[in-house]
Amino acid sequence: MPTENSAVATSPAAAASQPQDFIRQIVRDDLAQGRHAVVHTRFPPEPNGYLHIGHAKAICLSFGIAREFGGWCNLRLDDTNPGKEDPEFVEGIKEDVRWLGFEWHALRHASDYFEVFYRSAIKLIKDGVAYVDDLDAEQMRAYRGTLTEPGRNSPFRERTVAENLDLFVRMRAGEFADGSKTLRARIDMASGNINLRDPAIYRIRKVTHQNTGDAWPIYPMYDYAHCLSDALEGITHSLCTLEFEDHRPLYDWFVDKVDLPGHPQLWQGLVEAGLHTEPAKPRQIEFSRLNLSYCITSKRKLAQLVSEGHVDGWDDPRMNTLRGLRRRGFTPAGLRLLVDRVGVSKQNSVIDYAVLEGCIREDLDATSARRMAVLDPLKLVLTNVPHGHEEMLSFPNHPKDESFGTRELPFSREVWIEREDFAEVPPKGFHRLKPDGEVRLRGVGIIRCERMIKDGEGKLVELHCTLDPDSRHGLPGADRKVKSTIHWVSAGHAVAAEVRLYDRQFDVPAPDGEEDGKSWLEHINPGAKRVVQGWLEPAAAQAQPEQRFQFERLGYFVADRFDHRPDAPVFNRTVTLRDIWARQAGQ
Ligand code: ATP
Ligand code: MG
Repeated sequence: MPTENSAVATSPAAAASQPQDFIRQIVRDDLAQGRHAVVHTRFPPEPNGYLHIGHAKAICLSFGIAREFGGWCNLRLDDTNPGKEDPEFVEGIKEDVRWLGFEWHALRHASDYFEVFYRSAIKLIKDGVAYVDDLDAEQMRAYRGTLTEPGRNSPFRERTVAENLDLFVRMRAGEFADGSKTLRARIDMASGNINLRDPAIYRIRKVTHQNTGDAWPIYPMYDYAHCLSDALEGITHSLCTLEFEDHRPLYDWFVDKVDLPGHPQLWQGLVEAGLHTEPAKPRQIEFSRLNLSYCITSKRKLAQLVSEGHVDGWDDPRMNTLRGLRRRGFTPAGLRLLVDRVGVSKQNSVIDYAVLEGCIREDLDATSARRMAVLDPLKLVLTNVPHGHEEMLSFPNHPKDESFGTRELPFSREVWIEREDFAEVPPKGFHRLKPDGEVRLRGVGIIRCERMIKDGEGKLVELHCTLDPDSRHGLPGADRKVKSTIHWVSAGHAVAAEVRLYDRQFDVPAPDGEEDGKSWLEHINPGAKRVVQGWLEPAAAQAQPEQRFQFERLGYFVADRFDHRPDAPVFNRTVTLRDIWARQAGQ
């Protein structure tokens, strides 16, 4: 039976042909022209939250390209914002990347390079292209200008190199208050690209850092730290999302002005510290974000869902975090398949959530054993089966894959069926069980409904049926045609289970952008989690945590990673067998 790891080799994702997109084309051309000996990428999350479905695209791309071209991909924690970042998230990110099926070449932190960043800033000051500014944040904004108006030079822009050096060294020594001084690049306050209007390089923040403690009262800005980290690690192709396109000129500016390959004294000590480095000039390439309908993919908003108690944590199966999706039963191969299907381009678009569900179903159909479970039970008594009769029936675990083997399923006089599989007054086109009607009991034979038993209030509590002995599975009469087959479990053998029925977290395609005056929080789907007590065949209850099944006719389910025990089973519904949302929308 396929396991999690072998899924890498056997999944539909792996079977798909090698993706062809503009980034892979660039990589191929660069290799053909001998520009790089080895392709080296990186995935650079900020450890201020857990990874979400959008990150899956960035991970699959950077790690995937490295793997396809025999290169390397680093996992780099972009930890330049102390206070918002947490070691808990670092561990979570590592776990999620591995779960998706990838392993990093080296694990790095932007904070590993704080000393290099500092020395490089000194170089920029000495070269006359960086200065210490005393404007506060508000004044700086006012001086920056707008998209249509050029900015104005700061009155501190013409400080001498000596003065700038003195002030910057004192900033580093902790002499000045938070926000009172900033180190800025001296580029062009009139640039059409606002990112080039003397962007900040360092700000003063006396905050304890999770790795460097209180060693630094100043912290580098993202635009400065990111490109230099890429250069230090010898990253050849730095892949990021489109919102960084306007930052690329600044990325290149810092890389060129600092020139790490030409100035080994700047990164002296890194190798001794065990951080092998071979600085090079990296190239930034942007691609469009993965946006999914019915989803929120902003860490800030996901954090809000957690902190305000709308969900039971970052790994709540309603969440579109990787750990939420994992707990819900989504598979790494299914997510990789989604990224392949969606492809890579510079075109921003929103992918229908149904595409994701389709990918998950495709993977689960191939990789999940079948089981029977009843979620809304109605007792059915087979009156011509003797009291105390007990029989073990052999069932294939997978209809299309014999390698899954078979299992034994107990059958007896009393079974549970799904309440909705019976209709006293059948609507038009209803082919399941009805008074005097016949249906096939999956793997058993054809039954006829003889009597309904109701309680004092008229509620149906039991059905009495007879089993046609000639129609038993395996006998010649089993071929007799009936319109429907229903699933069941033996009432005396079934194991009670908590079953958590999950659905989309939001009730509109664009919870964030609906123009109906409602906040995104008001679009939380109240039906996204429903808990019922169901009955499982014994072989389903015996599952290991995270084992996935198709419960026949109901959907794909996973034994909860944390709460499931064979003597107290807990299953989560991953996805229904068909798209119920499209039907509701009349598609
Ligand atoms: P958020 O805005 O939710 O905080 P982020 O982009 O700030 O997300 P990072 O931790 O900085 O999160 O992201 C790490 C990498 O993942 C970046 O290179 C970023 O471009 C990429 N990424 C983030 N969201 C998506 C997405 N929806 N689709 C593709 N890549 C993404
Ligand atoms: Mg970010």
